[in-house]
Amino acid sequence: MSDQRVPVLIVGAGLSGLSTATFLGLHGVPALVVERHPTTSQHPKAYGQYPHVMEALRLAGLERRYLEASVLQDVRIMIGVSMAGPIFHTIDEALWPDLSALTTAAWGGAGQDRSEPILADRARELGATIRFSTEVVSFEQDDEGVTVVLRDIPTGERSTVRADYLVAADGHRGGIRGRLGIGGHGRGLLHRLMDVHFEADVPADLPASGHVLMHLQNPELPGGYGDLGNPEQLNRYLFGVRLDERTQAEDLTEERWLELIRIAVGVPDLPVKLTRRGEEPVEIRHWIADRIRDGRVFLVGDAVRIVPPNGGFGGNTAVMDGFYLAWKLAMVVNGQAGPGLLDSYEPERYPYAETIAAHGLAAFLRAEGQELGEDAMQADPDPVSQLYFGYRHISDAIVREADDDGAPMENPERPTGRPGSRAPHVPLVKDGADISSIELLGRSFVLLTGAEGEPWAAAAAQAAAELGIELAVHRIGGDGGLTDPANTWATTYGVTESGATLVRPDFYVAWRSRDASGTTELTGALRAVLDR
Ligand SMILES: Cc1cc2nc3c(=O)[nH]c(=O)nc-3n(C[C@H](O)[C@H](O)[C@H](O)COP(=O)(O)OP(=O)(O)OC[C@H]3O[C@@H](n4cnc5c(N)ncnc54)[C@H](O)[C@@H]3O)c2cc1C
Repeated sequence: MSDQRVPVLIVGAGLSGLSTATFLGLHGVPALVVERHPTTSQHPKAYGQYPHVMEALRLAGLERRYLEASVLQDVRIMIGVSMAGPIFHTIDEALWPDLSALTTAAWGGAGQDRSEPILADRARELGATIRFSTEVVSFEQDDEGVTVVLRDIPTGERSTVRADYLVAADGHRGGIRGRLGIGGHGRGLLHRLMDVHFEADVPADLPASGHVLMHLQNPELPGGYGDLGNPEQLNRYLFGVRLDERTQAEDLTEERWLELIRIAVGVPDLPVKLTRRGEEPVEIRHWIADRIRDGRVFLVGDAVRIVPPNGGFGGNTAVMDGFYLAWKLAMVVNGQAGPGLLDSYEPERYPYAETIAAHGLAAFLRAEGQELGEDAMQADPDPVSQLYFGYRHISDAIVREADDDGAPMENPERPTGRPGSRAPHVPLVKDGADISSIELLGRSFVLLTGAEGEPWAAAAAQAAAELGIELAVHRIGGDGGLTDPANTWATTYGVTESGATLVRPDFYVAWRSRDASGTTELTGALRAVLDR
């Protein structure tokens, strides 16, 4: 007999768990999140939010909160011996390509110590319960659900929760994947580092003053390398060094840290105040799970893959895993979709895990000056925006067209609008205000149609009533105050003004009809996608 029944239990209150809880809440499902630690992350770890992530966060009502918490604006990366020089290389704004043709969302720059509390607050506002200092001790799944044993860490008290589904957002070191017998592959441990935060009034005229991130190549540092971050451009720094045979975590006493910081800054008598010392080594790994689903258990975030931070994808992908999984879980839990919809999670999400792992590994190896192997992406996709907006979802939750070549990526600068691709951004005007077509999407399934698309309203109403789902219809260029000044939406989406495109809640095109002849097929398309 369990003490509590919940639709979804999420293990881990990191970016992936909190994102899953937030988007489940947005779709009307109140999740229970349990987290072993007493708080969210105190470490800033992932700083940048890519615009496709900001679009998802905008849907959750979080864009403004993220931008207010952003400390990163421009990025200057330097490589050199110390802040005092010599400097070998400077990269300005390398991480911030102009994507304004693809999105209206800005880049975010909130560290994880700020973004996790924002997500946690929003998840709670949307109905989630978050229990800190609580861990999953064991779980067992059967045909109807998952029984999970929890332990309240301060009291040691155990309780049992019965959940329809379990989401393993328990990070790379979480135990759920292992208990399911899911193995993995990849290069494994690349190196380990220890880090500290410190405050110092570094002279403003040093050659590397003003850097956001500095990679140090200095034989006086352990292993010859170090990383110095100053994202806030204040007197607060994050400094990490590698552990090697000669330097272990216990060798890094306060005195030794002060010595190393002065070497990194290049000012021998610099007054320095240590404000936080990492308790355990950060492991930089390249590893991908062999599967990301087992029955009623779904893996998200670092439980799926762990990539070197160089590519900047770990945290961003963790947020998006939650975004892509939540609507599917919600529709199944709410009885609006059959369980087969959940079969699409792995085929849609797994190829992307492999892609970003190869990308992150390549970025790491390049920074190290090492040869790339077959498992590292030899060249960045051209354009690199494919990694944000160009990856496709190929599964039974997409009604693929006969001539679809199954390509896993496409160039978002030349969108096809075909099913399985992200709905393209088109600038529109709604009630006099500029909006992106993406802002019409996300709360439910959406049908976009054009000036001659009157027949779709009745077809959509009938489909929604028959299936008991919400299906919003937006007629672009009709009489509803939504216009397309550049007259590009229909060609961009690959339909005519009488055609329509059905978009899933995750902004992906599920099905389209080039003209109004497809009105009779709409319900069937939804049935196929929703496993009804
Ligand atoms: C130094 C560093 C820099 C980084 N920089 C970037 C960057 O610039 N950009 C980027 O995108 N990414 C970056 N990353 C990666 C990013 O931080 C991770 O990908 C992200 O935090 C993963 O989130 P997660 O929620 O999947 O896992 P985690 O943050 O690891 O969260 C998992 C949580 O599950 C909890 N847990 C585990 N087991 C249990 C259990 N049995 N019961 C209860 N709770 C449990 C853990 O306590 C933990 O809080 C960086 C990482 C590091 C370490």
